[in-house]
Amino acid sequence: MKRYEVIVVGGGLAGLRAAIEINRHNVKIAIISKVHPLRSHSIAAQGGINAPLGNHFRGIYDTWEKHAFDTVKGSDYLADQDAVIRMTKDAADRIYELEHWGCPFSRTAEGRIAQRPFGGAGFPRACYASDKTGHALLHTLYQQIIQLKHASEREEMVMYDEWLVTDLVIEEGVCVGVIVMDIISGEIEALQAGAVIFATGGSGRIYGNTTNALINTGLGMAIPYWAGVPLKDMEFIQFHPTTTLGKNILITEGCRGEGGFLLNNKGERFLEKYDDSRKDMEIAPRDIIARNIVREIMAGYGYDDSYVFLDLRHLGREKILQRLPGIRDICMEFIGIDPVDSLIPIKPGQHYTMGGIDCNIECETKIKGLYAAGESACISVHGANRLGGNSLLDTIVFGAIAGGNAAKYVQNSERQKSENRLNDVLKLTKRNIDKIGKSTGAEKPVTIKNELNKIMDAKVGIFRNAPDLRVAVCEIKALQERYRQIKLDYTGSRVNLGLVWALELKGNLDVAEACLMGALAREESRGAHFRTDFPGRDDTNWLKHTLSYFTEEGVRLDYAPVNIGPFVPKKRQY
Ligand SMILES: Cc1cc2nc3c(=O)[nH]c(=O)nc-3n(C[C@H](O)[C@H](O)[C@H](O)COP(=O)(O)OP(=O)(O)OC[C@H]3O[C@@H](n4cnc5c(N)ncnc54)[C@H](O)[C@@H]3O)c2cc1C
Repeated sequence: MKRYEVIVVGGGLAGLRAAIEINRHNVKIAIISKVHPLRSHSIAAQGGINAPLGNHFRGIYDTWEKHAFDTVKGSDYLADQDAVIRMTKDAADRIYELEHWGCPFSRTAEGRIAQRPFGGAGFPRACYASDKTGHALLHTLYQQIIQLKHASEREEMVMYDEWLVTDLVIEEGVCVGVIVMDIISGEIEALQAGAVIFATGGSGRIYGNTTNALINTGLGMAIPYWAGVPLKDMEFIQFHPTTTLGKNILITEGCRGEGGFLLNNKGERFLEKYDDSRKDMEIAPRDIIARNIVREIMAGYGYDDSYVFLDLRHLGREKILQRLPGIRDICMEFIGIDPVDSLIPIKPGQHYTMGGIDCNIECETKIKGLYAAGESACISVHGANRLGGNSLLDTIVFGAIAGGNAAKYVQNSERQKSENRLNDVLKLTKRNIDKIGKSTGAEKPVTIKNELNKIMDAKVGIFRNAPDLRVAVCEIKALQERYRQIKLDYTGSRVNLGLVWALELKGNLDVAEACLMGALAREESRGAHFRTDFPGRDDTNWLKHTLSYFTEEGVRLDYAPVNIGPFVPKKRQY
């Protein structure tokens, strides 16, 4: 049986940043990714990554304290303030490190890293590489990985590209490895590990109308959840205000940061009608703008009762070509319009999973030797609403922290001796997969997936209420029952993507259930979670994190206190 000191699951920004840190400790590591790392969703990030670089703007200098305050206020006071402070204090160092590794950030006329305004930030704080920031960051980290891999003579870094992790193996409360399937050959094996880091990204594909890549399923969060780690704050789902009509491709907040306008069917900048967006207009926080777009459409001021327009025309051709070339390409390729002279039809869509695998500020979960980082983790720095540009920052700051801590943990702990538990779980996984292959049921996984997406889009969206959520719970439970009867069209072992999607679907259903149960229980409105039947924030009863535990009967909910620091909760006004 192969053994690694640390296994990192995920080849996105969080996973690769963790791997670089682990390598600094001379620890043998495997990076497992179900797609080639450069196809991870991080590659799609557009607008920017936040850091208080001390640049000066209208006579004011940015500081980590201001960044921390904006983040906590943006989170509607649900973020843990110790974690936010750690992230904002580390931010500038992590950005300069990326710069020194060659990340091609856009520049100011003086040659400094350029920064653009983003929603909810009192300062132009988002560093960017035109509108392809994720592309620049992921390639920078991947180049470091390749360099380290080739520099190591003892095969200290092994890549498993296109391998799917299906299970975690826990022995007496300690994580001892994972079960993986080689997607190409269909072979399944157990890998022993001294520590495992989950950096498996978001689970946006539990929704249909989402900006997330097809690979962003619930499985990465479900695997630790099934193994006993709670999921935290799963009801908090971010809806991005501007996604393309029909396909929900992201149109970055950078468009509004650069000065774009949102217009209703009368050509008015309608955000000025609403108290919470009147002051900051197009750069108010995402939860507020997304709600006000939907309100505007519901009031009859949208186009075809379904969308509004984003107007970039006044920015001028040169600025659009220089700062937003990717957005222009998306508009021309997928909508057939050129934003230089045409309006972009947009509507909100699912974008980010604020909740995730429960872990502390050291990225430790409740299982010894198991860590989480990036969008799959909930530390929590985003609370009830993430600010644009803070997620990329979260991946590199906490990726590095998770990597450092996992490496130190394996260096200080005894080598695991027993392979029995790994072999037992391997047998169970093989039996389960065999069962799916031999099933004579009549359910198609894709039908169940489509129905799940419809339920989430219709009943667990921007505005929520108890009757809809209750119906959705019953519907999802029915889908979980039907899942037992799934049948695959192709049962061979080589490149069986039908099987991969079937395994992913189980994760989608269970993670969606956690999201729903949290949303139904939380009888208040905070950040991105808006209950029309409880429209106010209720700090007396609900200033707490939701913890969802997996049980065979369904979700068991529990709660945990929020770490409040220097920023005393008050009404969130912009
Ligand atoms: C279109 C778009 C634009 C965005 N723009 C911005 C932005 O401008 N600024 C910002 O701050 N944030 C942005 N975000 C959010 C941000 O990009 C993501 O939150 C972040 O990149 C997630 O990184 P990650 O490393 O956690 O996960 P990902 O990049 O999603 O990587 C997850 C990895 O896990 C692997 N994996 C998952 N499950 C398994 C499994 N079971 N077995 C094996 N491997 C597995 C995948 O193969 C992948 O390598 C954007 C998001 C989207 C969708």
